[in-house]
Amino acid sequence: MDRTYDVIVCGLGVMGSAACWQLARRGLTVLGLERFDIPHTLGSSHGRSRVIRKAYFEDPRYVPLLHRAYELWHELEAAAEQELFVRTGCLNLGPADHPCVRGILESVRQHRLPYEVMSADEVRRRFPAIRPAEHDIAVYEADAGFLRAEGCVRALADQARAAGAELRTNERVAGWNADDRRVAVRTDGGEHTARSLVLTAGPWLPVLAADLRLSLRVERQVPIWFRPLAPERFSVGRLPVFIHFLDDRAYYGIPDDGRSGVKIARHHGGATVDPETVDRTCTADDEADVRGYIRRHLPEADGPLLDATVCLYTNTPDRHFLIDRHPQQSNVLIAGGFSGHGFKFAPVVGSVLADLATAGRTDLPIDPFRIERLRIEAQVMS
Ligand SMILES: Cc1cc2nc3c(=O)[nH]c(=O)nc-3n(C[C@H](O)[C@H](O)[C@H](O)COP(=O)(O)OP(=O)(O)OC[C@H]3O[C@@H](n4cnc5c(N)ncnc54)[C@H](O)[C@@H]3O)c2cc1C
Repeated sequence: MDRTYDVIVCGLGVMGSAACWQLARRGLTVLGLERFDIPHTLGSSHGRSRVIRKAYFEDPRYVPLLHRAYELWHELEAAAEQELFVRTGCLNLGPADHPCVRGILESVRQHRLPYEVMSADEVRRRFPAIRPAEHDIAVYEADAGFLRAEGCVRALADQARAAGAELRTNERVAGWNADDRRVAVRTDGGEHTARSLVLTAGPWLPVLAADLRLSLRVERQVPIWFRPLAPERFSVGRLPVFIHFLDDRAYYGIPDDGRSGVKIARHHGGATVDPETVDRTCTADDEADVRGYIRRHLPEADGPLLDATVCLYTNTPDRHFLIDRHPQQSNVLIAGGFSGHGFKFAPVVGSVLADLATAGRTDLPIDPFRIERLRIEAQVMS
């Protein structure tokens, strides 16, 4: 029988699943539509782990959102009765005058977050797996670690369903149209209607919001898991999550939780791709780039490659998120362009979308994420 939902959510990666959870919790009728499974390995939310931290080099304005995200991850863990957030601490390494190191110090000081500054010698003593460069310092944040990524997506979807949301997988959204009272969404399974629409299509957002000509760039990324030569130095409890800012690039790592080896990856620096045609194999060049870093800074991680995956960043020109209303349709909400650092925010993004769908406004600080800046770019670039 036909029914009109309060909200339809298109795309159920981590953001869409979190939006369904937050919307259904508030008593709204919700239909979530996903073209693949929940989770799947073709978008941005798959793999074992994602870094979570508050000492935010990207901009101190993200910190209030992170406070709320931490609370919501904790609520999700309680509801799902499983550990999703593994607290290992996060060690941020780099030259003291590196803009990202300065950004971290600005965030921790402005928001009075607990932190510790270490010299390169101290890092070598406390975390013998890491060989910092001589001129590096480190900023250590204890209240940080990693999220079990696919476990989080499953838990968000399970809790959304438990709160009453209807989630359909393997149903692709072909298009939508809206007027002020109603949206109609066409899929390969039929047509669905709702009062509001949320677009959380990750790397496919430019297709589902094609009318806006958003300046988004999809970037290929290849995290790799290695079996360390000295495993005891790379395990959870011995090694924190780390991010290493070099002069012209950055790498990060996640310790071995006894299941999968140590994860090492470069942050950005990947090719611009189309999600439909991207090469989804780890190439010799992908491996050589990461091993080059390991040999200089983590020599005992240079063991056999255990696993690798291809994943996609969707970048805005300023690498800040896009969370806003459609400029012509106030009942259509858009969240995307998470630029390789969105996962840790997923439940608070869901909460913001639920605020906008129910009250038309949010108290959470989302001013930096307005759509207009991306449309202006699009006009300049055309
Ligand atoms: C290698 C890698 C490492 C990362 N590390 C971190 C990290 O350490 N910390 C951090 O905070 N963030 C990290 N990120 C970023 C974070 O993972 C992403 O910002 C986040 O997963 C984006 O989620 P999403 O829901 O927007 O996109 P996606 O997960 O891609 O979800 C979009 C969904 O929409 C669906 N969809 C698209 N089109 C349609 C359609 N027409 N019909 C129906 N469904 C559709 C897709 O199938 C997909 O499931 C990392 C990302 C990558 C790739």
